[in-house]
Amino acid sequence: MEATLILRTYMELTLSIIKPDAVKRNLIGSINSLIEKNKIEIVAQKMIKLSIEDAQNFYNVHKERAFFDDLCNYMVSGPIVVQVLKGKNVIVKYRDLMGATNPENAEDNTIRKLHGLSVEENSVHGSDSKDNAKVEIDFFFAKREIFVI
Ligand code: ADP
Ligand code: MG
Repeated sequence: MEATLILRTYMELTLSIIKPDAVKRNLIGSINSLIEKNKIEIVAQKMIKLSIEDAQNFYNVHKERAFFDDLCNYMVSGPIVVQVLKGKNVIVKYRDLMGATNPENAEDNTIRKLHGLSVEENSVHGSDSKDNAKVEIDFFFAKREIFVI
């Protein structure tokens, strides 16, 4: 009983986005392959195109930043793939796999180092905390779309 509880503590969900620059360059499969090779499970996935209002709401925390308008315009510049990822400590694990925001500063073998084009067009998003993961998953997915066994 106790062991089960401990295991459950580590099992997390996080929200991932394959951003327009990566979808445009046909990199969905390559990025999913990196996710799966790292023993992270994709438990929900769909391709959508954001409205400008969606992008502004999603990135609301950055609304005072100089790059906010550019960021929102970029996020609506083409379809994106939104995903729910599952794994032990997957929030931090996926942030590590993504690499630094600026691909130039990202570690080797991270998604952003391998595929990112610039600090803005950096190919992927991942939630940065448990609270944000829940808010961001709920932003894109209904419960019936997430297959957590
Ligand atoms: P992360 O995606 O690594 O959590 P942030 O939350 O700081 O990074 O920023 C959100 C997104 O805004 C980044 O992924 C990137 O697309 C864009 N961005 C961040 N910093 C800049 C910047 N200095 N110039 C342009 N775009 C930026
Ligand atoms: Mg962030």
